[in-house]
Amino acid sequence: MSISNKTLGEPCSSNVCEEGGYELGDFISDIYNKKETSKEDTIMCKGHEKIGRGQTRKCLNGFKIKVNIKHNNSLNETGEENLMITP
Ligand SMILES: [Zn+2]
Repeated sequence: MSISNKTLGEPCSSNVCEEGGYELGDFISDIYNKKETSKEDTIMCKGHEKIGRGQTRKCLNGFKIKVNIKHNNSLNETGEENLMITP
């Protein structure tokens, strides 16, 4: 399984945020590459808010995520991975 080829994302909950969202793909592929089985972290939103006069500031929303991965130790990588995302 090549999870890095998938676009995993969650939308930002802020209604003033633009182009917001959380990129879970990198987070999960990092765990996958390190063969970790579970990880809990907060991913920051990649969006921004307009604060007037053409200025923006970074959105401070975070998305708390806990991921559990059961690694399949077979020789090829076509095995199914069990991925559980708990917001
Ligand atoms: Zn946001």
